Amino acid sequence: MTPIETMTLIPYGKQSISKEDREAVLAVLESDFLTQGPRVPEFEQAVADYCSAKHAVAVNSATSALHIAYLALGLGPGDALWTSPITFVATSNAALYCGASVDFVDVEPDTGNLSAEALEEKLKACEEKGKPLPNIVTAVHLAGLSCDMERIHALSQKYGFSVVEDASHAIGGTYRGEPVGSCRFSSITVFSFHPVKVMTTGEGGMAVTNDSSLARKMERLRSHGVTKDPALMYEESPGDWYYEQIELGFNYRITELQAALGLSQIGRLDQFVEKRNELATRYDSLLAGQPLDLPARRDGVYSAFHLYQIRMRQGKQARLALFNKMRENKIGVQVHYIPVHTQPYYKQMGFSRGMFPVAENYSNSTISLPLFFELEMKDQKRVVQIIEDHL
Ligand SMILES: *Cc1c(COP(=O)(O)O)cnc(C)c1O
Repeated sequence: MTPIETMTLIPYGKQSISKEDREAVLAVLESDFLTQGPRVPEFEQAVADYCSAKHAVAVNSATSALHIAYLALGLGPGDALWTSPITFVATSNAALYCGASVDFVDVEPDTGNLSAEALEEKLKACEEKGKPLPNIVTAVHLAGLSCDMERIHALSQKYGFSVVEDASHAIGGTYRGEPVGSCRFSSITVFSFHPVKVMTTGEGGMAVTNDSSLARKMERLRSHGVTKDPALMYEESPGDWYYEQIELGFNYRITELQAALGLSQIGRLDQFVEKRNELATRYDSLLAGQPLDLPARRDGVYSAFHLYQIRMRQGKQARLALFNKMRENKIGVQVHYIPVHTQPYYKQMGFSRGMFPVAENYSNSTISLPLFFELEMKDQKRVVQIIEDHL
């Protein structure tokens, strides 16, 4: 056996950069534009085409995409956004940036996805007690598996809120035969291109929608709230240099270098997701028979498998022991996620442990195993061997 000290760490996620990816970025460095050139709209069109959405707005991160998506939907002070506590803090933080309040909805025990049943109960309870209903509900497709979008969408029609999909994990997945991002059951879908995600631009994100006014609004918000569209201007343009700032926006633009990498990566996306599914299926069979719960599947949902999350049945201490054992063996396991409502910043807003017990239990039992495009069979077997020996 190789001594532990000389083994290299197998991370839980890692980008795959091909020769073509590198050449695409180098070509931009040799061109006239490092930002706001032709690659950005080409990348947007490629993502829109890939997921059958009408419009795509590229930005420098999914966090920025969530922020401008929420603003475009009118979220502001006095409004409320509800989401799952099993997510990265960015999903709810972006609502706080808008001055809105945040609340959470408990999750499904087997997928960790926002539970449509819990959502319905919470909406009913709020209605009965005359408490404010949410303006936006953000569905997070944990690990790449779509939430029950049909049911969440039906509730949005009944209770009058907008739906955003945080599909940071889910680009390349499908839901009921349609690509994630088609926005059939939502107003806006957001993707992340951080290097641990399914495809990467270094840092980067995208918001897709079928609504042209939302798209135009997000385009302005990513670039200072400035427009060159005469139809939107307050004064007549005195010349071609003229632009007007008509609202308060940000600099959330993505660079040409990132867009070129994204364009090259999206050409490889189907391959990435197929491989992730193959690796997940192999983990399923290698781990079958162990006292573990393996990732749940759903009929009609093809997961992008950003994460392969196992769940321990014996509680927190057993999870900690396995986690430590893996780390000792240089396996870069992770926990996705610490429930957002238990973060100190959120506790100070009045949240406390015990408020979303299913999410807390999910968080206390889960471990994400290494899963990425270039993960080799021997590494996967090593991961499973350590688990087997430990259990
Ligand atoms: C990664 C991630 C984000 C943030 O993405 P960035 O591109 O790093 O800003 C938001 N939500 C979820 C669920 C994520 O996994």
